[in-house]
Amino acid sequence: MIIFKFGGASVKEAAGVKNMVEILKKTGTKDKLIVVSAMGKTTNALELVIQNYFEFNKIDLTEVKNFHAQIAQNLFANTNHPIFATLNQYWKELTSFLEENSSQDYDFVYDQVIGFGELISTAIISAYLNSEEIKNNWIDARKLIKTDTTYRDAQVNWEITQKNINHHIKPNELFITQGFIASTTNNCTTTLGREGSDYSAAIFAYCLNAKEVSIWKDVSGVYNADPRIFKDSIQLNQINYNEAIELAFYGASVIHPKTIQPLQRKEIPLVVRSFYDLTLPGTKVSNGPKIVPQVPCFIVKDDLILLSIATKDFSFFVEQNMSEVFALFHAFQTKVDLIQNSAISFSVVIDNKFKKFDLLIENLQKRFRVSFNKGVKLYTLRHATPEAIKATEKDKVVLLKQVTRETAQLVVHENL
Ligand code: ADP
Ligand code: ASP
Ligand code: MG
Repeated sequence: MIIFKFGGASVKEAAGVKNMVEILKKTGTKDKLIVVSAMGKTTNALELVIQNYFEFNKIDLTEVKNFHAQIAQNLFANTNHPIFATLNQYWKELTSFLEENSSQDYDFVYDQVIGFGELISTAIISAYLNSEEIKNNWIDARKLIKTDTTYRDAQVNWEITQKNINHHIKPNELFITQGFIASTTNNCTTTLGREGSDYSAAIFAYCLNAKEVSIWKDVSGVYNADPRIFKDSIQLNQINYNEAIELAFYGASVIHPKTIQPLQRKEIPLVVRSFYDLTLPGTKVSNGPKIVPQVPCFIVKDDLILLSIATKDFSFFVEQNMSEVFALFHAFQTKVDLIQNSAISFSVVIDNKFKKFDLLIENLQKRFRVSFNKGVKLYTLRHATPEAIKATEKDKVVLLKQVTRETAQLVVHENL
């Protein structure tokens, strides 16, 4: 079986859906499972719905409804096509959930709402495939991928997931399912983390012993830097799993960081390919110690926080202090990007991904002296050369620097 994953940027309009169907026609519609994300910026739009719901007690779906209605109208000339009733049904279900909900748990509510983007996207595409006479099976990923109850960052229960997938997905046919979403054993929707559809594709690939995974992107492959930011970036034709894990871990957003490990475990090759040009080879990620980039790779993560923590009595910052600090990072779902310690203080660069920074600080201050610098950027250079480091430092205030044989990391503030 082959797994294809199409992201939001690929299916942001009717033309994208048509292009996706062309790709399927050209590459085959049998023995394939396609994983699709929410269309365009739907996930961001739904995040706004959730924010308005919590802050102003307002339920406003106008924007997301209109956006999908427009795409459906462009795909289905017949306004009586059953897809329009299906869409109405989803919006009704979402509205009822919000009206009846009494939970104040933001993360729980977030996951019950946000997955409608993926459900609706795959419903439209499945119906469109049928209208093109491509027989397909629409699968609710929540029935197959089972997780714990860590809403917004759910951890997969591999054993149950494996059984479910093997039971429902059979060879030779075409399946379409959602990325990003899963559910608890009580059938509450969970999500695998923002941009997690790549990871969903890897979960299906692992459980199905897939031959290959292709993720179709608006770029022609993995570059040595984000081509939207670095004009002189060059494409890497082949990299090994470890290199891909490192690049994704440090923030190369072209691949979700959790994607590679399940594939590596079964040596399933991953190809990052251009959604717009089927003739391009893309970047192949596979096994092989030798396939490492021959050029420095640049990764930038912005809007991070540099946090410095010290004991209140200026005593040494020892292991016990660190374990207390990390327990709090864990409790407030804080992602740590870089660590540096000295005798009396401990510095970390963190990602305020779940917006729990204020709560974290409140709790840290009970035990420690804390200072922080918001809005910092982290530059990571894999296979760094002295020239590349120098070029990165130019015109910036470097707050912290770490250099190892493989990787250089610079925490900078550009607006000081
Ligand atoms: P989708 O959500 O549609 O699957 P993403 O937008 O998440 O796709 O990923 C594609 C984007 O990743 C590109 O548009 C590009 O700007 C960005 N990107 C970041 N780092 C890299 C890199 N090293 N190589 C290629 N693209 C990169
Ligand atoms: N739709 C989700 C997001 O935007 C998941 C994904 O696209 O990978 O984060
Ligand atoms: Mg994405």
